Amino acid sequence: MMDRVDAIVAGGGVVGLAVGRALAQAGAEVIVAEALPAIGQSVSSRNSEVIHAGIYYAPGSLKARLCVRGRELLYDFCDSHGVPHRRCGKLIVATREPELEALRGMQARAAANGVDLRWLGGDEAMRLEPALACVAALESPATGIVDSHAFMLALQGDLERAGGLVALGSPVASARLAQAAGHVVRFADGSELACRWLVNSASLHAPGLAARFEGLDPRHVPTAYFSKGNYYSLAGRAPFSRLIYPAPADAWLGVHLTLDLGGQARFGPDQEWLDIATPEQIDYAVDPRRADGFYAEVRRYWPGLPDGALQPAYSGVRPKLHGPDGKAPDFRIDGPALHGVPGLVNLFGIESPGLTSALAIGGEVLSLLARP
Ligand SMILES: Cc1cc2nc3c(=O)[nH]c(=O)nc-3n(C[C@H](O)[C@H](O)[C@H](O)COP(=O)(O)OP(=O)(O)OC[C@H]3O[C@@H](n4cnc5c(N)ncnc54)[C@H](O)[C@@H]3O)c2cc1C
Repeated sequence: MMDRVDAIVAGGGVVGLAVGRALAQAGAEVIVAEALPAIGQSVSSRNSEVIHAGIYYAPGSLKARLCVRGRELLYDFCDSHGVPHRRCGKLIVATREPELEALRGMQARAAANGVDLRWLGGDEAMRLEPALACVAALESPATGIVDSHAFMLALQGDLERAGGLVALGSPVASARLAQAAGHVVRFADGSELACRWLVNSASLHAPGLAARFEGLDPRHVPTAYFSKGNYYSLAGRAPFSRLIYPAPADAWLGVHLTLDLGGQARFGPDQEWLDIATPEQIDYAVDPRRADGFYAEVRRYWPGLPDGALQPAYSGVRPKLHGPDGKAPDFRIDGPALHGVPGLVNLFGIESPGLTSALAIGGEVLSLLARP
């Protein structure tokens, strides 16, 4: 007879680990199967490590709800598990009068999401951050930064304490859904395992993997798009103690400054759409020439940026559900009520604020699967 567990989660990034932890703590026997030899080597280690407040997302969306809830859970988790983090706050700045309108809109949207932003006049903002140039700013005290690897290790610790297991170097190749034995999951080495619950948390690979789920209507498998974000680190000391974001002109947040826990500043990520069909074709190299366009943008709010101070750092790729012309969609947490397959959840398009939302996504997936 085939071996069987309660749940298999495909993908050991921050979201897969948080989902696995939630299922294990609810009493399920869980295996988180990770394709690579270590956890969190993909999108979860190529991001800004910002704990987002929940400002930008459409009120009522999954992104808005899970970000706000996930942020509260994450701060508590960091406190209780000793995960390094800092509630450093963030300023969203208007550098010209016409941008004030965008700031007011943002303050209203944040309020609708239950997020408080404090309006600061230019002088007040520049007193807080003397290197800044702006005419007004919104202060977000709930924004912070976190050590994403320490967070993932702590999630793995909780998962294992609850009896769960992370299987490294174990790519899920395909699945036959809703068989007599349950879902039958096939691994790349040819071995098979049955389970009652299957969660596809393979991020950039999630649409490709879902296409190999026999028994899932292909209409429920989205096309994958990929958008690369390049970062440039600042040589020398960071001039700010808070994160600094320009008033956004469109869905992209503009050339913003984030800090890591060591105090190093970096600019980005920018938005570079990749013309590729699969994640295997991603080239993570950062083109130094793309920084040329950053200088003018950054000097609008930090006139003191020295020439030649930006160095190529690293890049990450967003798992997108639309191309360059599409409107940014919500997270997709496709459960049985949507696709009709009991015990299956596909997670698609878990881009930012997925790190912040991870613990709340874990709770959401548990509630979809445990629903009678
Ligand atoms: C540039 C950038 C900046 C970001 N900044 C922030 C931020 O500041 N704050 C924030 O909240 N969010 C941010 N995000 C979003 C956040 O990083 C992601 O939402 C989150 O890391 C996604 O986690 P994940 O577990 O879904 O994906 P991943 O970490 O990619 O995990 C998926 C895992 O699945 C594995 N896998 C793939 N195929 C298979 C298979 N067949 N079988 C088994 N395993 C498989 C992969 O190896 C990988 O480890 C950012 C994202 C990007 C790209």
